[in-house]
Amino acid sequence: MTTNAESFARAQQSIPGGVNSPVRAFGSVGGTPRSFVSAKGAYITDVEGRDYVDLVNSWGPAVLGHAHPEVLAAVHAAVDRGLGFGATTPGESELAEIIRGRVVNGDSSPVEKVRLVSTGTEATMTAIRLARGATGRDLLVKFAGNYHGHSDGLLAESGSGVATLALPGSAGVPAPIAAQTLVIPYNDVAAVEAVFAERGDQIAAIIVEAAPANMGVVPPAPGFNAALRRITTAHGALLIMDEVLTGFRVSSAGWWGLDGSDYAPDLFTFGKVVGGGLPLAALGGTASLMDQLAPSGPVYQAGTLSGNPVAVAAGIATLTAADETVYARLDLVADLLATETSSALAAEGVEHSVQRAGNLFSFAFRSVAPTNYVEVKDQEGFRYRDFFHAMLDAGVSLPPSVFEAWFVSAAHDDSAVARIIDALPAAAKAAASARP
Ligand code: PMP
Repeated sequence: MTTNAESFARAQQSIPGGVNSPVRAFGSVGGTPRSFVSAKGAYITDVEGRDYVDLVNSWGPAVLGHAHPEVLAAVHAAVDRGLGFGATTPGESELAEIIRGRVVNGDSSPVEKVRLVSTGTEATMTAIRLARGATGRDLLVKFAGNYHGHSDGLLAESGSGVATLALPGSAGVPAPIAAQTLVIPYNDVAAVEAVFAERGDQIAAIIVEAAPANMGVVPPAPGFNAALRRITTAHGALLIMDEVLTGFRVSSAGWWGLDGSDYAPDLFTFGKVVGGGLPLAALGGTASLMDQLAPSGPVYQAGTLSGNPVAVAAGIATLTAADETVYARLDLVADLLATETSSALAAEGVEHSVQRAGNLFSFAFRSVAPTNYVEVKDQEGFRYRDFFHAMLDAGVSLPPSVFEAWFVSAAHDDSAVARIIDALPAAAKAAASARP
């Protein structure tokens, strides 16, 4: 039998850091990353044959749980028809229609046209190019601690792996490109107003996570997204709402579906759930804006694998199966785990706060829930390391960083939830006795 340690040692010989995405390396929690070979429902199994209740869920896509039978059947059928054509297919129209049909407010949808791409990074990159092309302006406003993928202009004070590695940004980003991104504190309307007062006529767009979940979960203050809409409109700039993580996870219409009765962004970006676990992401917006993309307009974007029929089939099957029963289950499991985890930490006297946006949640080791990136970093994050490993030892796989959200799925049935809850007291004890 191969062990996790052997598997990771082998990976380190041929793959930088032994991983294909940094947070997988367990850098901030230490120890040996688990090397997984299969997953089904709420469980994931490593090379040693141990199973874990999975609260990473592929970082979000597995909203139905792993290897859902209807998704697998759709993927198998698509595979049988061929792996990719590099041409238009009926399926891509169907997926675009499903997205448009979900992101609605009354009779109208702010998503009239959709372009499919392969990753969330591509979706945000394209949305930004489109905003620049449409406005003829160069500057972009982003918020500290928000993560929008790894394109050059978006890594400054970024969340996710950049936060986990405590980096200010990335080497290899030319200074003139970094200078096109203005980074301001999250949840601070005055900071938004100030940056627009100074440079509003040069700003193409604000990009914002609909509800940030890459610095742990930090929900927008009530009215914050609507204020972004008001300010961008007043200055002729666009609002790009990044729902790569929240889209079709926190509700059937994403965060906007929960929050957006009084505002609509110009562009949405989607990823993760929309591809059902395969490489697929999307951007969408009004037809007048989206039609500025090539070939109908002058803003170039393309992709050999864009709209890949197997990925499209997984997306359609996932969104079709993700009905209100699924969202009700996600909400219920999230409520239960947030409450139980908080109680276990409290019972051991561990100072913490619950970070929550719909069914996304995480925990900060500080008494008051953080509202921005500066506050997020001001916590006893070292406690998560011991908490994480105690849970892992008990057969629960959490995100290997305090700066990531916990992802539940509709496959988290009562016995999976019970395993998590049973593991909490010992993990809370470990957090209480952790040393920096
Ligand atoms: N935007 C957000 C909000 C994300 O959470 C992520 C990925 N975690 C991305 C963009 C980038 O997506 P991808 O990793 O597919 O490039």
